[in-house]
Order: sequence, then structure tokens, then C-alpha cells
Amino acid sequence: MWNRLVAAGAGALLLATTLTACGGAQSSTGARAEVEATPAVAKETGGRFVVAYGDAKEESAISGKEVIQASKVLEGFADALNGWLTLPEDITLTGEECGQVNAFYSPDEKKITFCYELVADGFARYRDVAESEEENIEHGRANLVDTLFHELGHAVIDIYDLPALGKEDDAADQLSAYLLTKSGDDSLGMQTINYYFHTSQDQDRADLPFYDEHSMDEQRAYNYMCWMYGSDPDAYADWVGEQGLPENRAGRCPDEYRKIANAWEKLLAPHVKS
Ligand SMILES: [Zn+2]
Repeated sequence: MWNRLVAAGAGALLLATTLTACGGAQSSTGARAEVEATPAVAKETGGRFVVAYGDAKEESAISGKEVIQASKVLEGFADALNGWLTLPEDITLTGEECGQVNAFYSPDEKKITFCYELVADGFARYRDVAESEEENIEHGRANLVDTLFHELGHAVIDIYDLPALGKEDDAADQLSAYLLTKSGDDSLGMQTINYYFHTSQDQDRADLPFYDEHSMDEQRAYNYMCWMYGSDPDAYADWVGEQGLPENRAGRCPDEYRKIANAWEKLLAPHVKS
């Protein structure tokens, strides 16, 4: 299923030449989106994932909207989720102009908002670091997918009233990491790690937002690295060492990953379509 999701829109994204982050649950600041397209209908309950796009006026939002709409990544994501999960009510996946680089889940509206500015940023901020435009596009694509998986974490915690032990944003990262390891596409996880290491370099350590609901970007990078390594220590053995994942963390990672996978599989099992 996740192979299908990840493949959705990849061709269109490869054509993108112009162009993450996440906030926790917030109120939407963008204009209300109008539904322009809906994916396959869920079979077993009244709820389904639906897709909507709002207007874009500023340049970065316009370019972000062009990319996300042409890629049909939201439609592919909704289609895959409708084949996987039962829902008590609709969840909307919407692209909107927000005036900020962000994405968030709004529990009052049962809506995941993907800001067009985040899409544009995801395909722009890594361009000077990437070794090729192809790698830059892989980076932007990973940013889209990781953000969708993370926001899905917030959405299912809300809509199924799931227990989230610890910081909810860490739980959302754990669902994303788990799904990334199941995607069959290594570059998604690797570029997500690159993303958080790269964004952490823009931050002055003296000004780090320790009050924030998210873990620090550098912590998120090491967490994703640990959980991806933990999912298959043999495949990623060369990540361990002074330049990568410190050995004293790496030794814990297979068990961390096993607990994450066990928790999410158990929590979602009652809601998975047979
Ligand atoms: Zn979040």
C-alpha cells in the first residue's frame, strides 16, 4: 500500500524545478478550502479521507500549490488511507495558503492542513546542499511524505481517541518513522534525516525553543536515524559511529523500533480494514 502511496505523483514531482516542518494541533489560519477532488470512497464506515485545495495568492504559495496539486500526492495518500483505515467521520487533507511554512491537524475541523508555503520550502531549502537536482527533488518529496505521516499521527490519536504516552509530537514522529520504514523506499527516511539535520544548522543553540511541543530538530534527526537503523541494523550498520549514530544509542535502537512498531500496530489494529 505504502509503495503505491509513495509512487503517487512521483512523476509529476520529478518535473518540478522551483520549489517542512510541522506544527502541532492548531487552528487553521487559511481561507476555507473548497473541495475540488475526492478520492475513492471508504467501504465500511461513513468516514473517509477527502482532499481539498484552497486559493493561493502569494508567489511561494502559488508555486507550492502547483507542485502539490500536480503531484496528486494528497489524492494518492487519501486513496491509500481509505483502503487501509475505517473512519467514524471524514478527515480532510487540504492544501492551503497559510502565511507560514507549516502543516497541522485541526481536531475541531478534523482536517490536516498542508501549507503551500511548506511545499515550496521543502523543494527549495536543500537545493544548495543537494548533489543534484534529482536529490533535491527526493528531499522535497520525503518532506511531503514525512509531514503527511506525522500529521496522520495527530489525526488518528484524535479521531480514535488513542492513548499517546509522552509528547504527542514524538508519537507522531514515531508513526511517521514506522510508516517510512514500511514504505520500501529508503530515500524517504534518509532524506527525512537529512532534512532535520539541515534545518537544525539554521538554529542558534542559545535560542532553541525548549518550550516547543516538538523535540528539537537535531533530536528528531537522531530519532529517525535510530528508528530506521533499528528496523534493520544489518542494512544500516555503517550508520553507527562517531560521524553518525553513537554506539550507545544505536544499541538501544532495535528495541526502540520494536516497541514503536508494536504500539502502533496494536493501537491501529481495531481500525484497519480486513
Ligand atoms: Zn506535530
